[in-house]
Parts: sequence; structure tokens; C-alpha cells
Amino acid sequence: AGTLPRPPAPRIMTVANQKGGVGKTTSAVNLAAGLALHGLGVLVIDLDPQGNASTALGIDHRKPGIASVYEMLLDDVSLRDAIQRSPSNDNLYCVPSTLDLAGAEIELVSVVARESRLRNSLDLDVLTEFGIDYVLIDCPPSLGLLTVNAMVAAREVLIPIQCEYYALEGVGQLLRNIELVQAHLNRDLHVSTILLTMYDGRTKLADQVAAEVRSHFGGKVLQTIIPRSVKVSEAPGFGMTIVEYDPGSRGAMSYLDAARELALQGVKEKAQ
Ligand code: ADP
Ligand code: MG
Repeated sequence: AGTLPRPPAPRIMTVANQKGGVGKTTSAVNLAAGLALHGLGVLVIDLDPQGNASTALGIDHRKPGIASVYEMLLDDVSLRDAIQRSPSNDNLYCVPSTLDLAGAEIELVSVVARESRLRNSLDLDVLTEFGIDYVLIDCPPSLGLLTVNAMVAAREVLIPIQCEYYALEGVGQLLRNIELVQAHLNRDLHVSTILLTMYDGRTKLADQVAAEVRSHFGGKVLQTIIPRSVKVSEAPGFGMTIVEYDPGSRGAMSYLDAARELALQGVKEKAQ
């Protein structure tokens, strides 16, 4: 993998879609691994109590006593104390989630500046110190306070959309929530990227969905489409990203391509 341009300031991206099982976590960790392999510094913040992103990045989030995103949100623990390097790549870091994050949705309700806790804990000096170019926030499958915290902390939203029936179901509601956050909490927030996932080339439906999403979102949709592949779903069971688990596979290649496209977004236009 060649090197890719580093953004002038860290790009903070929320990976969101309140529908479960559309490939948020898979895309967050594999795009992160792809960017890291291309030489960029990446931090994944695992905001899902399930902790699947932490697991895929080889981080034992069940270990008692580890600092996690929960403590960053609710106990004023610093980013520096919660960040961990992934064993898979020297450029890849994670703030893990722990099971107590499941309670955070409720506990946050009565906290001061409850929507801005994550933003306030994302210390830019620490990001610079760790050489972070990309922060990818893996959201839970809901539009609750955890997802709102991600949207307030980020500038960009990346929406994974599954090439299946009802692909766009719920996306309208997601867009309205993004607009609300934009209007009241974070003026800079915008949808910058759509990633089509779990594409099955044998079905006509997958092509129809891809075409519909492209006509809806235009140039925001990455050209690269992630194919449905068993290998992609196996990798997390080994505490690995697909890029590590089977680097030559179609799944790995497609996430590497998508990562490259992500890093080159906007660069070409500026050069012209
Ligand atoms: P979400 O985070 O949106 O809930 P996940 O990334 O966890 O979605 O994906 C849901 C399930 O689909 C997981 O079991 C995952 O391993 C599997 N999966 C994700 N992407 C692919 C793919 N491209 N091919 C096959 N299985 C996939
Ligand atoms: Mg997930």
C-alpha cells in the first residue's frame, strides 16, 4: 500500500445508521485498518456497548479495570488514559467500549452538557501527540444520546448502507436527526460519505439498491462497493480486521480501496 495524503487536521467521522447489522462496525474497523495500512494514523472510538469494534481491533475490552469510552463520557477520564494501541498496526488506536456503556444512555440524561461530553474529551493535543489523522466513531444502532455525542464530536458522517431490501429504511430519519444536530449543536456536521456494503452481485436487487442510493446521494457515494463475503464476517472472531485476516481477499481489497477513496476525497478537486 502506498502512502496517502494526511489531512491538514484530524478528520473526525461518525459511522452511523440506526439500523443494526448494516456494516457500521465492520466498516469502521476495516476502513481504519485500511487507512492505517496506507500509513495514516487512525483512532477508532467504540461507542457501542457490544464492543465489537474493540474486539475486531484485538483489544480485550472485558478486562476488569480498563479505562474506556464510558469513563471518558461520565467520569472525566482523559483520552490519553483511555486510548490503546491495536496490536494489529502501529498506526491504529482504539478507545474501547465496556459493557457499562449500556447504562450510559440513561446516565447521560442528567449530566451537564450531556450532548457534548465526547467532543469535550477529544483532546486535540493528544490526537496530535499520537499522530492521529482520522477518528472513526462506531455508533450503536440507535439515535440516542451516544449517537448524538458522536454527531456533536464529528464533522463528517459516514453512512453505511446495505445493498438489501429496505436499504433506505430509516435513512430519512437519520438525515433529519443530523439536521437537528446541525441546527442546534454542531453547525459543521454534514454527511460526507456513503458506503455501500454487503453487495451480492448475483442479485438484481443489489444493483437496483446501489443505483437508487447513487441517484439519491450522488458523488457522496464511494465508487468502491463492499462485497458480501464470509471472510469479512469471520475476521472479528479472530480479533482481526479483514485486512489482517486475509489480505488478498476481495473483502480486504475492497476496504483498502474504500479507504484510499476516503483519503482522496476532495483532494482531486482541489488539485484541478
Ligand atoms: P452493524 O455494526 O451496523 O450492526 P456489523 O458491521 O456488525 O453491523 O455487521 C453485521 C453482521 O454482518 C456481522 O455479523 C458482520 O460480520 C456481518 N458482515 C458485515 N459486513 C459483511 C460483508 N461485507 N460480508 C459478509 N458479512 C458481513
Ligand atoms: Mg455495530
